[in-house]
Amino acid sequence: MDMPRSPGGGRSPRTIIIGGGIGGLALAQGLRQAGFDDVVVYERDESPRGRMQGYRLRISPEGEEAVRACLPRAAQDLLVATSNRREESGLVAYDQHLQQVWAPEFSDPRGDAPDKIDAVDRVTLRRVLLAGLDDVVSWGRRFTHCERDGDRVTAHFADGHRDTGDVLVAADGANSQVRAQVRPDDRHSDLGVRAILTRTPRATAVAAGIPDVLRDQFVNVTGADGLRLAWMPMVFRERPREAAARLWPGLEMDATEDYYMSVFSVHQDFLGLTDDAFFAMSGEELCALVLERTAGWHPDLRAVFAHAQPEETYPLPLRATRPVEAWDTGTVVPLGDAAHTMPPTGGVGANTALRDAAGLCAALTAAYRGEREFAEAVAGYQREMVRYATEAIDMSLRIAKWSMKKIDVNESTLSATQ
Ligand SMILES: Cc1cc2nc3c(=O)[nH]c(=O)nc-3n(C[C@H](O)[C@H](O)[C@H](O)COP(=O)(O)OP(=O)(O)OC[C@H]3O[C@@H](n4cnc5c(N)ncnc54)[C@H](O)[C@@H]3O)c2cc1C
Repeated sequence: MDMPRSPGGGRSPRTIIIGGGIGGLALAQGLRQAGFDDVVVYERDESPRGRMQGYRLRISPEGEEAVRACLPRAAQDLLVATSNRREESGLVAYDQHLQQVWAPEFSDPRGDAPDKIDAVDRVTLRRVLLAGLDDVVSWGRRFTHCERDGDRVTAHFADGHRDTGDVLVAADGANSQVRAQVRPDDRHSDLGVRAILTRTPRATAVAAGIPDVLRDQFVNVTGADGLRLAWMPMVFRERPREAAARLWPGLEMDATEDYYMSVFSVHQDFLGLTDDAFFAMSGEELCALVLERTAGWHPDLRAVFAHAQPEETYPLPLRATRPVEAWDTGTVVPLGDAAHTMPPTGGVGANTALRDAAGLCAALTAAYRGEREFAEAVAGYQREMVRYATEAIDMSLRIAKWSMKKIDVNESTLSATQ
């Protein structure tokens, strides 16, 4: 494919990004920084508030490096200012009787750097990733299919809109419609694990007497029958609204308070509910289910879930893509969960999507500048992506196995085993 080139080659390539989530927006930011002036992001959501997708995201050194490569300086500063204050001293694992079983030391090359982005709030991250992209993102547009015609690709949307460009990036997440069309045989493996995700205002849990020892830690509890409960605090260095007013005046930001994100997981064999019944449960019912299943646990371990917000509680299946493969689809290029879905146990799915965004941005920029052929640049990006995404999935599955004692990660089918 011949890509419109710079400099002297006239216009920059029209780059259509499907999905304004973490990876798609980071890519749009990176391309903007690299001088691409014809980028559009199509997002099915009506607004940045988004869907039920989790709350707090751990940012790894690789994720931070990628986000810094894509974002302008002021947006990086805003992300630092709104990141987690990191009072916690790491992960502590307990059994259901509150007996500590493990407190690993994790090494982080960033150490305690004052500008380290340790963890972020997902909605705040999305707001930051949107900074300066008002004219780039088209909200409420659901991609349905695309047509390829030589070097050009046309995207079609549910509302009848269509758009033709030079590159189409599939950044539409785990249930990618782009992938469903261009790689219809791809399947996710269902790990057989069902999770319940919720959010608890930190002030409520503290007022209710959550003990100091459990307050500022990433806590993981493994109970009988592979029940697992984990929670982690999100304590903003600076409230997002105030930080945005200081660092990016005019940027819309949600009012938000410190909170805990908690995840309860159980294998289907122990859940004893059909998927139809489980996924139809209301937030209240899901909270009640967790409290019922942990009734015999030490009361302190149930304190965070006991004050969860039912309206912020929802069910989730754990899935993984294996093997991760490069897409041989020419002008249609994947990024993030669309290419490699993984369970949240490793806390690296978003970091991998950010890494993809930085890598694809570098590849498209090299092609645009005439330094590499488009096909070769994209193939190089995908080769690297397959390598590190496979590692990320393997790591996430190992942690899932360790914490739930129920998934055989050696099976290529990822089938559930004892
Ligand atoms: C509970 C939980 C906790 C997690 N914790 C972490 C963590 O701590 N660290 C970490 O690194 N990762 C974490 N992850 C994983 C992380 O959320 C994902 O890997 C990440 O969001 C993937 O980014 P993405 O850009 O590929 O997809 P997404 O962020 O899902 O974005 C995809 C976007 O595409 C849009 N879209 C979908 N279909 C269409 C369509 N047809 N047309 C137009 N738009 C469409 C969606 O609305 C969405 O905005 C967690 C996930 C969960 C569920």
